[in-house]
Amino acid sequence: MNFFISYCQHSHRHPKAEAPALRMKDVCASYEGDDKLALKNISFSVPRGVSMALVGPNGAGKSTLFKVASNLLKMSSGKVEIFGQPLGACHQHVVYLPQRSDIDWQFPMSVLDLVLTGRYVYLGWLRSLGRQDYHKAWEALENLSIEDLSHRQIAQLSGGQQQRVLIARALVQDADLLLLDEPLNAIDAQTRAIVQKVLNHLKAKGKTTLMATHYFNPQEGLYDVAIYLKDGEMIREKVT
Ligand code: ADP
Ligand code: MG
Repeated sequence: MNFFISYCQHSHRHPKAEAPALRMKDVCASYEGDDKLALKNISFSVPRGVSMALVGPNGAGKSTLFKVASNLLKMSSGKVEIFGQPLGACHQHVVYLPQRSDIDWQFPMSVLDLVLTGRYVYLGWLRSLGRQDYHKAWEALENLSIEDLSHRQIAQLSGGQQQRVLIARALVQDADLLLLDEPLNAIDAQTRAIVQKVLNHLKAKGKTTLMATHYFNPQEGLYDVAIYLKDGEMIREKVT
């Protein structure tokens, strides 16, 4: 039994049929002990089934926006809706894939165990990990071509392998909205090809993705829409 998964305790509500996957209205956020706003009056929405790029340089506020949308950081003002429901109500439908550099890779844990934490959102007082959870984890490991690494300690992975493990962890939740924090940053060509395959597959399944990136290249064909952040502000919205 795991007592540390606070988000399991929220009551669960179903997504509203016509609502966008994510909607932010006048969202402001800052970090404790810091007067500066990391997000300033952010308003936009992500329609269902769309892949959107969240473009901006380091420090623009991309990760902060994801942390607010995944309920890890409390906004100071504004409103966020996920599939038309207030933050936290649809928690199983949204997954945040953290930036690789935000993870403590020295933590003693196997790849399989880390990927399985993506299923914790479905556990509770009466349910522990079961056969279906393991099945989903193996399926994700295979999709990312890392099944051979399942029992390796996460401290013993290359950068590209770390990124694939994080993506596998995000996939096992079967969420409908995926917030992907720079999954294409500093990875080898093979990992990049695999990540692109996974993204295409998610799109074909009708999933919504919002992906943080430094660069936006319409030629890559990865995104339908892009929004730009700088110094915590949305500077423009561009439909490609
Ligand atoms: P990006 O992901 O676009 O690089 P971040 O959202 O990480 O940008 O950062 C936005 C702003 O918030 C930056 O000024 C950064 O220094 C600040 N910031 C980020 N994380 C923290 C934190 N944990 N504590 C204090 N300030 C932070
Ligand atoms: Mg970031």
